[in-house]
Amino acid sequence: MFGWLKRRRRRGILQTPFPSAWEPWLEKRVPHYEALRGSEQKQLRELVRVFIAEKNWEGCKGLEVTDEMKVTIAGQACLLLLGIEHDYFCNVDSILIFPRQFVSVEKQEMDEMGIVHESSTPSLGEAWDDGPIILSWRDSKAGGRNPFDGLNVVIHEFAHKLDLRDGVVNGTPPLTSRAEYKRWAEVMRREYETLIERSERNKATLLDDYGATNPGEFFAVAVECFFEKPAQLRRKHPDLYEVLAGYFRQDPAKRHPLGD
Ligand SMILES: [Zn+2]
Repeated sequence: MFGWLKRRRRRGILQTPFPSAWEPWLEKRVPHYEALRGSEQKQLRELVRVFIAEKNWEGCKGLEVTDEMKVTIAGQACLLLLGIEHDYFCNVDSILIFPRQFVSVEKQEMDEMGIVHESSTPSLGEAWDDGPIILSWRDSKAGGRNPFDGLNVVIHEFAHKLDLRDGVVNGTPPLTSRAEYKRWAEVMRREYETLIERSERNKATLLDDYGATNPGEFFAVAVECFFEKPAQLRRKHPDLYEVLAGYFRQDPAKRHPLGD
């Protein structure tokens, strides 16, 4: 769509009042929504409205997509956008929602004999490189309802989409300066290696050890923790917290000092 047309359409969307029925879902399902400043809550409400209007929403396995689902998912996803330059996740056209964990048929794995099998491991969510976000509704709802466990599938999948803004999932989204890239690489590599080492030795970790899978997963897991357990992350991984706070231009630990 042309830029001016898009802008006009967005202005039109924002001219009508925010639906009052949506507010309680933001309060209940967006991690630490109550701790956002009034201006941030307003910004989030506006992001949510445009996001909901511009995406294709599709229910799978007979699921009927409701406003509650859209607001829950949009609210959590748009929390990531509050401080950064963005185009409403323009690399996400569609959001597919399954009632619960799902197996996406296109996912294939090759065994040691070179035979490709359909993967049968159920997913909570997936972010396809050049395609949709796929989510389990049950897990999307649970992730928002418990903002203190550091697990949030919606934030996780949309973090992958931020990472993908430069076309690759490698744990590094586009940054603004050479110095930022340097600091990012330094901190992320060190933190990623520490997580691998600790999880191999079965030591307790604040970050979900799924983050030890690869640098892309490390970034997504770190972002979940940044928004859900900011105070703990700042205390235990100050450098990681600092680079994420710099990237997102948000300081959730300050906003919500008891957020753990
Ligand atoms: Zn992931």
